[in-house]
Amino acid sequence: MNLKQGIALMSSVLAFGLATEAGAVCTQTAASQADRDLWNTHGCWQDFFLWQYKAYGLRSGDWSNRGWNAACNVNLEFPKHWNASYLLTYGMEDDWNQSFHGTEDYRATAEARSSNFHDSLYHSITDRTDVFGTFTPRFWPWDTDRVETACPLYNPNVSNSNPGSRAGDYMHEGWHAYFDKYNFDNGNTGGHRPGPQGACTINGCDYFYFHGISKYPFGAMWENNGTASKFHSPNQVQVEFLCDVADQSHWWIPLSVRQTAASDANARAASRFINGPGYTCGSPRPW
Ligand SMILES: [Zn+2]
Repeated sequence: MNLKQGIALMSSVLAFGLATEAGAVCTQTAASQADRDLWNTHGCWQDFFLWQYKAYGLRSGDWSNRGWNAACNVNLEFPKHWNASYLLTYGMEDDWNQSFHGTEDYRATAEARSSNFHDSLYHSITDRTDVFGTFTPRFWPWDTDRVETACPLYNPNVSNSNPGSRAGDYMHEGWHAYFDKYNFDNGNTGGHRPGPQGACTINGCDYFYFHGISKYPFGAMWENNGTASKFHSPNQVQVEFLCDVADQSHWWIPLSVRQTAASDANARAASRFINGPGYTCGSPRPW
């Protein structure tokens, strides 16, 4: 078998695997209060979801029985996916004196297009229940990196099934893509350090590289100086985003969205940082 045949075989096996997996879906019976409250601020905005699926590189085969053709049913996964994108695209206040980072940082981390933040990627979905999401670097040079979000971000019985936590995972997985682009090694435990160690209580730990407000111009979150004085870890980007949702989003972002974001951020701050607890939402800014 020559190389080209080998590639073709690999492709067909992958296609079959995806087709099989598309038969299973996450819990689709309801949406969380936070999802519904945010939904009611836009009432299912068609122009936005027609933009979103392209901006996030969604592929119809991955989402076919998850709301691809029912984008206004908030109980389904695609509507929940774009509801989270709506939050991070339009919800942030971008207050230079208070926000950790700006909308352009959060969008560039989440969206598909190649930039200083990561190479091109696409968003898919998995029925795994043991993770919130995964990042898989491309195998072939001509393919694209993949971000998958998992059932705990869509199952309304799980506390992380809310727009902030879902978009927060876009940050986390997007930051693994950032590490991949620049060849940073954040550890060999799922892209994190083994744990528990220090203040981190789980297996999969980060450092929090604390920085003051206004240290990064909006759009410059990707920058680093090669030392801990100017650097971000995946959980850190996630916590900073979630606290910006909780504390620095527009007045019309519902309280349920802010509270669930703060709860997620504070749980991460307490359990996932070796030098934790890191930043807690609601603490005064700036310093
Ligand atoms: Zn930051």
